Amino acid sequence: AKNCGKNNAKLYSSALTTQIMSHVKLEVGLRKALQHNELYLQYQPQIDVRSAQVVGVEALVRWRHPELGIIPPNDFIPLAEETGLIVPIGEWVLRTACLQARSWHQQSKRALRVAVNLSARQFKDESLAQTVLAVLNETGLDPRLLELELTEGTLMDDALATLATLEQLRGLGIYLSIDDFGTGYSSMNYLKRFDVRALKIDKSFISGLPQDSENAAITRAIIAMAHGLKMAVVAEGVETGEQLSLLEQFGCDMAQGYLLGRPQSQDAITQMLNSPSCA
Ligand code: C2E
Ligand code: CA
Ligand code: CA
Ligand code: CA
Repeated sequence: AKNCGKNNAKLYSSALTTQIMSHVKLEVGLRKALQHNELYLQYQPQIDVRSAQVVGVEALVRWRHPELGIIPPNDFIPLAEETGLIVPIGEWVLRTACLQARSWHQQSKRALRVAVNLSARQFKDESLAQTVLAVLNETGLDPRLLELELTEGTLMDDALATLATLEQLRGLGIYLSIDDFGTGYSSMNYLKRFDVRALKIDKSFISGLPQDSENAAITRAIIAMAHGLKMAVVAEGVETGEQLSLLEQFGCDMAQGYLLGRPQSQDAITQMLNSPSCA
């Protein structure tokens, strides 16, 4: 039995070594990713439910690794947060998305909003508002066309400090929204005090619709609450026409999901904006 334990320990430690090795390799790679231009953005359309028009796009980062191929954000954003690399990466995402949005606005003359995901680490950075202001000035984007998505965890972690930061950001005239709503913890007391414009209902509530009556009840309640607080609602992960019509019935304002458009290249979005059916 002793021997067996020893063997297990050895096996475990070698598996751990492999894990640490690949972690270190990924971290070294991530440090170089920015300077080597390996990061790029895709944009997913957000649709106004009533008019069926595209009102915005969400910027989603990807990493084209020279050996491993394309790495999705869930596989490197946590590492970027852990190492602090999310700060320069997040700033690159913000600048790239704002530049692109400014170009779309100039070309199409349409008020297309671009949404950028902000991690907790970025939100806690004291120079956040300064950075956002600098990027807006540099790119010339109308602040109303920039949306920042924050999670409940980010906002509620230090709700008093959050109030001050949100005030700074709102002072810049940008659009703020709460991402993955319903998956974290929100204090209703703070929710009413936070000056955010929209709630994004997490896709885990949408995926079972219309059959899942509990998720339907939750979705309907979130929409009613948000509207009572004068916030708009975006449903995430809309994959079927049935889901979309139920959401329309519930009075949901906006929708995003594979049914309405996958995350896609900037050129594909440009084409979509130029096509007459999109006008
Ligand atoms: P998220 O912010 O909740 O983004 C939505 C995710 O759902 C995206 O995954 C998108 O591709 C996926 N999605 C969209 N429609 C559907 C659908 O109909 N069905 C299903 N099953 N999925 C759908 P993605 O691009 O892999 O991003 C994953 C997460 O990585 C994001 O979740 C976000 O938390 C994070 N992330 C992505 N880009 C950035 C970034 O630039 N900065 C930060 N801090 N986080 C980012
Ligand atoms: Ca998001
Ligand atoms: Ca989300
Ligand atoms: Ca998220």
